[in-house]
Amino acid sequence: MAYIIAEPCINVKDKACVEVCPVDCIYEGETMLYIHPDECIDCEACVPECPVEAIFHEDNLPDEWKEFTALNAEESPKCPVINEKKDALEGESCNKAAKKH
Ligand code: SF4
Ligand code: SF4
Repeated sequence: MAYIIAEPCINVKDKACVEVCPVDCIYEGETMLYIHPDECIDCEACVPECPVEAIFHEDNLPDEWKEFTALNAEESPKCPVINEKKDALEGESCNKAAKKH
């Protein structure tokens, strides 16, 4: 069992969940983020952080989003791991981040 990221994350991707995940099992795809089901420890820390309520326990996933269980499992191993929240692509904080590198 694991937590699943579903449709509401698509094109939101603010990564608030990533910041709190203790095992860094959340991966970024092109349109949304995915949770690696073998790495998730079911701690639920990410759930209240999500501004769009995209994260559900596998058992509580609404029927219309059932396909996201397989999608998280398939896509998460293909994506690079991320472990910090990123800001929007423009703005002061982005410039600060750019200077660090
Ligand atoms: S439930 Fe815990 S371990 Fe699983 S993705 Fe969320 S924060 Fe990470
Ligand atoms: S907090 Fe929610 S919307 Fe933001 S990246 Fe995570 S799952 Fe997607």
